Amino acid sequence: MKMTQKLCRFCIDIIYPNRCPCCGEFIVWNELICSECAGKVRIDTDSLCRKCGKAKEDCICTGKLMYDEAAAISYYEDEAKTGLIAMKNSVSRNFGWYAGIEIGSWIMTQPEWMKCDGIVPVPMSRSKKMLRGYNQADIIAKGICDVTGIPLMKDCIIKKHSRQEQHTLGAKERAENVYSFIPAGRDLDGKRLIICDDIITTGSTINRCAEILKDCGAEKVYAAAAAVTVRKREEQDGSN
Ligand SMILES: [Zn+2]
Ligand SMILES: [Zn+2]
Repeated sequence: MKMTQKLCRFCIDIIYPNRCPCCGEFIVWNELICSECAGKVRIDTDSLCRKCGKAKEDCICTGKLMYDEAAAISYYEDEAKTGLIAMKNSVSRNFGWYAGIEIGSWIMTQPEWMKCDGIVPVPMSRSKKMLRGYNQADIIAKGICDVTGIPLMKDCIIKKHSRQEQHTLGAKERAENVYSFIPAGRDLDGKRLIICDDIITTGSTINRCAEILKDCGAEKVYAAAAAVTVRKREEQDGSN
């Protein structure tokens, strides 16, 4: 986080005291999440399937994956889900920063990932970004950039306006809806990139984005997310 952003957080804290985005407890102005929630949400990234990024029992590697490896720092349930929903609803960006820093710290331990030339956040359509005020994938990506020093590359993929939200669709519709992502026409010859999103559900969004980046010449595409859904949860709430 830059000095100006820190100063901004300090001043905002005087008017709106900083809270943990997961449990709502008051926290110090320069904290992003309370230590109790941090202990609950952070999973062992290395316990996930290295290739698809899902929990090993939910592995989706049998499908055609366009990305080379994937990683996440939490499961989309309980405190992590609350933190991500708070970010989606423009209530708090804290979980995005927290996830970005945690993913960044994990990437620092991965020599192959550290060879990457850029972090590419999954884009949001202009109209949706105007409505929300920000793209949550941008926040996570900036957190990763801050920690790793790998530059942010936002102008690689365009998201066209689509009437239906990806998370409201079933697996088949998700797979079709991803064609609202199109290349921005940038030459990415030989580049190694990390595509970044908030949640990996069916993997269709990051798969389409990885396909675009590779069509534009990218040599390797890794995927990083704040959270991955777990099948148990998907079956319970029927949301995916
Ligand atoms: Zn908390
Ligand atoms: Zn897998």
